[in-house]
Amino acid sequence: MPRPVDAAPPGAGFVHTFLPGRVVFGAGTLAQVAAEVEALGVRRALVVATNSARAAADVVEAQLGDLFAGRIDGVAQHVPTEVADQARTTARETDADAVIAIGGGSAIGLAKAIALTAGGAVVAVPTTYAGSEMTPVWGETTAGRKSTGTDLRVLPQVVVYDPMLSRGLPLKVTAASVANAIAHCVEAVWTPKADPITELTAVEGLRALSTGLRDVLLAPDDLDARSNLLYGACLAGSALATAGTGLHHKLCHLLGGTYNLPHAETHAAVLPQVVRANAAAVPQATARLAAALGTEEPSGLAAQLFDLYQAAGVATSLRDLGLTEAQVAEAAAAFKPTDNPVPVTEDLVREILTRAWSGTRP
Ligand code: NAD
Repeated sequence: MPRPVDAAPPGAGFVHTFLPGRVVFGAGTLAQVAAEVEALGVRRALVVATNSARAAADVVEAQLGDLFAGRIDGVAQHVPTEVADQARTTARETDADAVIAIGGGSAIGLAKAIALTAGGAVVAVPTTYAGSEMTPVWGETTAGRKSTGTDLRVLPQVVVYDPMLSRGLPLKVTAASVANAIAHCVEAVWTPKADPITELTAVEGLRALSTGLRDVLLAPDDLDARSNLLYGACLAGSALATAGTGLHHKLCHLLGGTYNLPHAETHAAVLPQVVRANAAAVPQATARLAAALGTEEPSGLAAQLFDLYQAAGVATSLRDLGLTEAQVAEAAAAFKPTDNPVPVTEDLVREILTRAWSGTRP
């Protein structure tokens, strides 16, 4: 029996909540950041930037003039609480009422951590394809444990997408980041909260991301390819924001949190195996995703994703990321069942992880 989300939309009925937010997209839009911040009525804005975004942060700092409250450079992956606490202190001391994050999911995550407790607006200028800028989801890591939550106060009020900023993103980081965004699109189609509007967003996101990835492999600084990837990331983040996450993201979260596996690369190794396990249970959704990826054969979606990641040079095996075979069994036993097109049992999780561990083509 297909799930309602697998039926042709919109016959099965649905509920969709649009999230507030403004997107400014285009080459050179970095020049508009200060005007966007001013239009929000902000008095003093902090700039949070990764090392890779230093030059862009200098540009924004110069634009801001009297609105500039200060700069935070110490961004770390997964928002360690010590880093967040220091940033919140800076926000209070500088009397900032907005944070401008320039960088990937780590910089945006730090800006969200400030907004969650110290208040203020978030303006995001993403330079990777992780998609966090479109979601109200925050994360923070205390003593090695990552907590996450959803709060509209952390949702960026403005997102400025300038594809010029991601032109220099190394191909390896690009491919892993795109794998993360593709996972948002694929899973958004079959979570319990998925609906036809989310699906439209997710399927178009997958088309843009896969086209952009193939093109960027041939010409890493091609602006059209980079624009496709950033557009796809925007759609992927939007889909994630409304559909939430399911088996795939929860598995990656467990692996990343417990065994310290790299966030984006883990998505590339796990997703083809999760798709393989679910495809027959959601045939219509799978067919729409497969078409977006450019294959006529719905049953080939998992293999096509695997091949795309291999061609992009991103790891398709958890063994290559440092997981041991014993940890596969341990993770399968620890995993808590979640809503999914096919019932989640320990055997299913072990099968998915074993195949992902050895990097077996679906
Ligand atoms: P990241 O922000 O850590 O960036 C990866 C690396 O790329 C860093 O070393 C960074 O300095 C570098 N980099 C970034 N932009 C660059 C550029 N243009 N040129 C050269 N180098 C550049 O990684 P990420 O994958 O963007 O984000 C991962 C984090 O985001 C994780 O903590 C993840 O949990 C979180 N995330 C959150 C959400 C959400 O909705 N809250 C969604 C997706 C990811």
